Amino acid sequence: MKSLIDKLEETQELTHEEWVSLIGAYETPGLIDYAAEKARALSLSIFGTQIYFRGIIEYTNFCRNDCYYCGLRMSGNDTTRYRLTPQQIFDCAEEGHRLGYRTIVLQGGETAYYEAKGAARMVEIVRTIRERYPDTAITLSMGEMNREAYEALFEAGADRYLLRHETATREHYEKLHPPTMSFDNRMECLRILKEIGYQAGAGIMVGSPYQTVEHLANDMMFMADFKPHMVGIGPFQPHHDTPFANFPAGSNELTFFIVSLCRIMNPKLLIPATTALDCGRTDGRQRAVLAGANVIMPNLSPEGIKKNYLLYDNKPGITQSAEENLNKLRSLVEEIGYTMVVGRGDHPDKVKEKACAA
Ligand code: SAM
Repeated sequence: MKSLIDKLEETQELTHEEWVSLIGAYETPGLIDYAAEKARALSLSIFGTQIYFRGIIEYTNFCRNDCYYCGLRMSGNDTTRYRLTPQQIFDCAEEGHRLGYRTIVLQGGETAYYEAKGAARMVEIVRTIRERYPDTAITLSMGEMNREAYEALFEAGADRYLLRHETATREHYEKLHPPTMSFDNRMECLRILKEIGYQAGAGIMVGSPYQTVEHLANDMMFMADFKPHMVGIGPFQPHHDTPFANFPAGSNELTFFIVSLCRIMNPKLLIPATTALDCGRTDGRQRAVLAGANVIMPNLSPEGIKKNYLLYDNKPGITQSAEENLNKLRSLVEEIGYTMVVGRGDHPDKVKEKACAA
């Protein structure tokens, strides 16, 4: 199997059959470490020991969707719903800038409130943050919207957009989502985002219910073809008030392996060490960095609301202030010989595009 990892490094692609063999063999002794070493070396050669820190503001937990895995789903009764006011969002952005962040991520559930009239309300928020902090990148993670809204947000100053594809296999998508949600629309949204010029992020939950090795092979083939700028890879974690409450969590070990394979396949990718890796433990994000991840997203949301943005149970960091969360994560990366970087932390190709345009 190590020869398939060597082949991936050389050619940056594998056949579907090869992906299935490689991912299916992840428990072979030494294989995860072999991939992690290669991935870490590639990450070090491009980003050095720098880990890009992004501050995430969870601006609402209202959501019209009913994803079977997510604690924010519309049918959830166990959540106190909130929507931050624009002023609360600006206060978080100000605190983030003070703490040194030069990327702010705005993430929330999907609601007509923010989508109406070409996402007019969020356009105003993005425009204000852009004007106040010209040195700061703005990443959005607002889910599926139409082209008009995505374009308006881009023009207002958003730079990046995270929209995990969740699974590249239609039948699997349909097991994770109700019939009101569309696999084709999610994929189309990703294509539109990239076309508009966003740094676009795809991604999956490892170990989501009903996921097979074939599905993961399809995900790798999709990412090889789509070439996102970022990929968010985190383990599925159950939430008690969802239809998937009794499914087991995804494996951290398999998640590290997939992170490493993504890095080897596409060395310049921005890959977060995701929060879901640290449910009930503290070494998950460290190990993801050692497996090739190069981004960490501490929480910048106001203290009182963090406990209400629970995508899954046992989410770490919800009792810490923004500053405590940042300091904790900074010391975790320093413990393993990496450094926190404050800077926009763009995808290397996008930095080049900007330099050429200037
Ligand atoms: N609504 C937007 C969207 O769908 O992109 C942004 C918010 S959504 C909650 C962000 C991500 O959380 C999803 O893409 C999903 O992969 C992840 N997520 C939701 N529930 C999860 C769970 N139970 N375990 C792990 N990740 C989860």
